Amino acid sequence: MNIKNHQFDAVIVGGGGAGLRASLQLAEAGVKVAVLSKVFPTRSHTVAAQGGVAAALGNVSGDNWLWHMYDTIKGSDYLGDQDAIEFMCKNAAKAIIELEHFGMPFDRLENGKIFQRPFGGMTQNFGEKPISRTCAVADRTGHAMLHTLYQRNIRANTQFFVEWFALDLIRDADGDVLGVIALEIETGDIHVLQAKTTLLATGGAGRIFQASTNAFINTGDGLGMAIRAGLPLQDMEFWQFHPTGVLHAGVLITEGVRGEGGYLVNSEGEHFMERYAPHAKDLASRDVISRAIATEIKAGRGVGKNKDAVYLKLDHLGEELISKRLPGIREIAKTFANVDPVVDPIPIVPTAHYMMGGVPTNLDGQVVEPSNGSEKVVNGLYAVGECACVSVHGANRLGSNSLLDLVVFGKVAGDKMAKEIALNHAHKPLPVDAAGKTLARISRLNNQKNGENVAEVGAAMRKTMQTNCGVFRFPDLLQDGVTSINEIAERVQRIEIKDKSQVFNTARVEALELDNLIEVAVATMHAANNRQESRGAHAREDFSERDDENWLTHSLYYKKDHQLLYKPVRLQPLTVEPFVPKARVY
Ligand code: FAD
Repeated sequence: MNIKNHQFDAVIVGGGGAGLRASLQLAEAGVKVAVLSKVFPTRSHTVAAQGGVAAALGNVSGDNWLWHMYDTIKGSDYLGDQDAIEFMCKNAAKAIIELEHFGMPFDRLENGKIFQRPFGGMTQNFGEKPISRTCAVADRTGHAMLHTLYQRNIRANTQFFVEWFALDLIRDADGDVLGVIALEIETGDIHVLQAKTTLLATGGAGRIFQASTNAFINTGDGLGMAIRAGLPLQDMEFWQFHPTGVLHAGVLITEGVRGEGGYLVNSEGEHFMERYAPHAKDLASRDVISRAIATEIKAGRGVGKNKDAVYLKLDHLGEELISKRLPGIREIAKTFANVDPVVDPIPIVPTAHYMMGGVPTNLDGQVVEPSNGSEKVVNGLYAVGECACVSVHGANRLGSNSLLDLVVFGKVAGDKMAKEIALNHAHKPLPVDAAGKTLARISRLNNQKNGENVAEVGAAMRKTMQTNCGVFRFPDLLQDGVTSINEIAERVQRIEIKDKSQVFNTARVEALELDNLIEVAVATMHAANNRQESRGAHAREDFSERDDENWLTHSLYYKKDHQLLYKPVRLQPLTVEPFVPKARVY
């Protein structure tokens, strides 16, 4: 097999919002930086983000980053680390103004300031009433952000490797990370990219579920790479189910619709969120609304042929507002639900959407792992964005906080990497046979005879995750889920690809993606089965209460023996008083 070697100061795996914000920081600092992306960067999933990006600018009404911090901590069900959340919320306004100066075309208010809309869980004065904090570009905010960052990177001479698929991290005997092994999809060549610093920014893994708002590219590749390199994954039991995915299609209808005044109704025409969250109603946090919808459907008050959905009603907003602020949503509703929301309600169901867990990092984006009762940095390795867990989202992310996470921590990680590179250490020598395990994986795929079919095994995984680890979690289903996902993981080892040609080969890429998806699915199922409480998006039928005494902890899952360790949540912010955990009502 043809193997080519390259050397860079920094290699970034992922050309979404997180990767591009970090690469921009590095390229502008004069660092030789390579960005690998398995799709063209502006097709990264950030492009799909609709509703907006949060920052306490106070353009519509008075706001304060401390209120944003409080909302985020409460939204996280107190599992978010308060120092990281303080840092993010405090730096949010600066990050937005920076994007504005990069040329991001935010919508405007009459007075020329950046337009802001209400989003779930975002409130004024520590929960008093909903606030407009989410800055938006109509319902295409991620699209605008990604294109802005890409263009700035072109200007700064970032080097892109497009349609290159990163396979594994290179980790030496000291545990230091020295780069990645990658597949050039077009030619089938394997490349060794040696780097002084490596950043994982590979996005989410929502395709472990059957019904998902995520694109097919969201396969958790960075998490697979980390776990195969012996690193833990943090808080994998926490998956956000977005309340409003289009029935049967999974395509997202942004929370921005409810921010603009849309609301949910059941088959009796009842505005049922008034019962579940009397104060915040349809702008309660996502886990609360998803559970309310699931409960309404279970009680027989669902809509549609199978009574397995509820309606999102926005016809009362009027055609003018819908066309101006939510044009993409109208298009999606017409295409995927066959309804025009100007006239008819949209049938929706809770749909897997966002991974709160990921590769554990510190506030500089450096990957960390437990060591002798405390934590140490994994030299040379960083992670940012949805694949990372810093942790600002805890057990439940607030809408519009992910795009913020990307730009705040992307910049910080880029800065820290540039500082590390400026120390001018030479490249550490690569371990002998750095690509050995990766090549063995490729040859396993090439040589497998009478093996399993990728699509069938993938479908079995998604069905198990959807059935056994969904919005509500039941003890028997979790137990069965563990057995069944372990068996599916063994089947993944026997995958056979029919087309074994070395050049452009999507069958091989899909098989390699399944290698990563299954790592994420197994970690999720084991972590969910082990956490005996309900917190945020993890709602157990048998342990229905939050248990701060025993479970105010982050989980750390290791591939080896499915080991689970736990570490305390960081409750001490950087400069302000802590927010003490209390009952979470909306
Ligand atoms: P991505 O943008 O997904 O980028 C991942 C990158 O990694 C891609 O470039 C991909 O090619 C690359 N990659 C992956 N694996 C490999 C590999 N093996 N080799 C090489 N490259 C690889 N959040 C908000 O805050 N506000 C919103 O309004 C909002 N709306 C959303 C709407 C939808 C439909 C969805 C699904 C999510 C939404 N989110 C929103 C969440 C948010 O968009 C994502 O969490 C965020 O964009 C992820 O950014 P990222 O940079 O981490 O990853």
